[in-house]
Amino acid sequence: MSRINVMKPWLGEEEVLALTEVIESGWVAQGPRVARFEREFAASMQANHAVATSNCTTALHLALIVAGVQAGDEVIVPSFSFVATANAPTYVGARPVFIDVDPDTGCVTADGIAAALTDRTRAVIVVDQGGVPVDLDPIRDLCDPLGIVVIEDAACGAGSTYKGRPVGAGAALAAWSFHPRKLLTTGEGGMLTTSNSDWAERARRLREHAMSVSASDRQASILAPAEEYLEIGYNYRMTDMQAAVGIVQLGRLPEIVRRRREIAERYTAALSGIVGLRPVGDPEWGTSNYQSYWVEVGPDYPFDRETLLVRLAEAGVSARRGIMSAHLQPAYEGSPSYRGPLPVSERLTGNTLILPLYHQLEDAEQTTVIDALLSPLTVAAHG
Ligand SMILES: *Cc1c(COP(=O)(O)O)cnc(C)c1O
Repeated sequence: MSRINVMKPWLGEEEVLALTEVIESGWVAQGPRVARFEREFAASMQANHAVATSNCTTALHLALIVAGVQAGDEVIVPSFSFVATANAPTYVGARPVFIDVDPDTGCVTADGIAAALTDRTRAVIVVDQGGVPVDLDPIRDLCDPLGIVVIEDAACGAGSTYKGRPVGAGAALAAWSFHPRKLLTTGEGGMLTTSNSDWAERARRLREHAMSVSASDRQASILAPAEEYLEIGYNYRMTDMQAAVGIVQLGRLPEIVRRRREIAERYTAALSGIVGLRPVGDPEWGTSNYQSYWVEVGPDYPFDRETLLVRLAEAGVSARRGIMSAHLQPAYEGSPSYRGPLPVSERLTGNTLILPLYHQLEDAEQTTVIDALLSPLTVAAHG
């Protein structure tokens, strides 16, 4: 039986050619293609500056450093997110403070943040969860006057919009991922975008050991200038091989989003008649790229989430459990980050599943998924 995966990257001949060109050029580490990818990504996301990184987790780490977050500070984060969102503040010695999310969007709200503020709060990480745009404006209205930096974890957000602009465009700092589970991929890879030129310059240095002269600039001169190491930095660089793939992928983004939204629409239409299944959708303030098309399995559905996953697997459909909650993981057991119940996060983590959705998904394959969701109802009706 052929298997339907939850996600597949869309890579083709153009990526192969771009990669061949880089290898033949003899310059494979961070260089001109990374610089070009940064320019094109910034233009596409309406950001002033873009700094390519090795992945989104390292972009989040750099964001926290340039935002001035330090040991002992508190950073408000959703527990309902991939674990990297919670881990990043710990890299600078700060404490993530978990808050709950809105049940419709899976994103944090200004009210949730307001309730968790203390005099140690230094930053907030908001997430465009599963590609659903977070309602950023009220959050910035709350945090900006208090000097609290709002960092947007847009790992899943490329191609989503907020009030008519790309997500992240209105953020002081936004971090992006190019892991194959996201819409654009470079194998591994990330980007930091920011409106602040000082932050961009410092992040650019920090990702390259905080060297005063970049490796590609030294390489460009016959008599290389002496470099200095201005502070303790990191090696969070992207390679030109990754960037060459990223440039091609970025060109595919509108087509990827168009197709994903078409598939999502068909799922939503099919599911609207099924009692007990609640799919994610667009919020009133923007559009989702449907990086994750999740469905909540309610008590009215004949099966619980685990049983439904098994039934889908029997039909050759590899769906996935929904988005995790960090506070339920051993790494955060008994952690002071957990200050109160997070009922929505726990409900969504326990009862949602993510359906297959990728560019190349065929209509017949999607029909197989939909039929597998419908079949328990037919059995129940006849049994
Ligand atoms: C995938 C993801 C990350 C981590 O991205 P990497 O590029 O794998 O480091 C961070 N935050 C969220 C919300 C994610 O979905």
